[in-house]
Amino acid sequence: MAQIIDGKLIAEQIKAEVRVGVSLLLKERQVRPGLGVVLVGEDPASQSYVRSKGKACEDLGMYSETRRLPASATEAEVLSLVRAWNDDASMHGILVQLPLPRHINEHRVIAAIDPRKDVDGIHPTNIGRLVIGMECFKPCTPAGIQELLVRSGHDPGGKHVVVVGRSNIVGKPTANILMQKAPGANAIVTIAHTAARDLGAFTREADILIAALGKPECITGAMLKPGCVVIDVGINRVPDPASPKGYRLVGDVHFASAEQVAAAITPVPGGVGPMTIAMLMQNTLLAAQRITAA
Ligand code: NDP
Repeated sequence: MAQIIDGKLIAEQIKAEVRVGVSLLLKERQVRPGLGVVLVGEDPASQSYVRSKGKACEDLGMYSETRRLPASATEAEVLSLVRAWNDDASMHGILVQLPLPRHINEHRVIAAIDPRKDVDGIHPTNIGRLVIGMECFKPCTPAGIQELLVRSGHDPGGKHVVVVGRSNIVGKPTANILMQKAPGANAIVTIAHTAARDLGAFTREADILIAALGKPECITGAMLKPGCVVIDVGINRVPDPASPKGYRLVGDVHFASAEQVAAAITPVPGGVGPMTIAMLMQNTLLAAQRITAA
């Protein structure tokens, strides 16, 4: 049976480190890291993520402010909020909760964020710096995947990592982080996507498989190399009449068959999910440290 990589526990360790960093910054520079979050519309999942981010800030002694705008808000309104926070010295991080309603151009809004405050690591400047190996803010979920691997004793160096999925928020940045010639990276990386005619032919080659395809339980144990490490990024709701909510969460990997074959695996929930917020907190502290050091 595979070792279970406990994302909740590792996320708590990271948050404990951030808490220490926050109190040091307060003591030494009288600076409390601040995070501004914009939420447009009523999407229940986004509302829940935003609540969790505010709560995490509070728990770690950071300042946070959430602006909730109606789904009818204009792009100009969102841009003017972002620009006001760019100029606000008490705000070190700015996060625009995605997705935005369709009438708002996501790229223009992201590009308006000061890259020094882009704690989600999605501004083109940060993405570009990431690709060429410069100091940057790493996107939170991919950074969380790297931390999970390193802290659970599965350093990707020299391993064949197969990432399934090439989205801008998960697949592409994860591959870019893990292929860097740097500690905690230095992997040989393959990216698979829907053009793969036989997905199993790729996944069976992976020493470390990262599943980020958004298809419930699509990758089964038979598609894995014995002894591999599986990081399941997927969060999918599937109907479950036995659950009080009427659904349950599953990953992109079929856990029951995969844990028979893999050496280690992340559960869903409790794997990558908690890491995303922990990395957001770490990035916000980092932003406050960098901005106030200048
Ligand atoms: P997207 O839908 O944006 O991207 C999915 C990617 O997977 C695409 O590149 C797509 O290929 C590829 N893909 C889809 N189906 C297949 C298939 N059958 N075979 C091979 N490749 C396939 O998803 P995201 O990257 O945004 O998210 C992926 C999953 O991770 C989702 O379940 C999401 O909920 C979860 N997630 C979890 C987070 C966390 O904090 N744990 C954070 C963000 C996302 P193509 O490009 O060819 O279409």
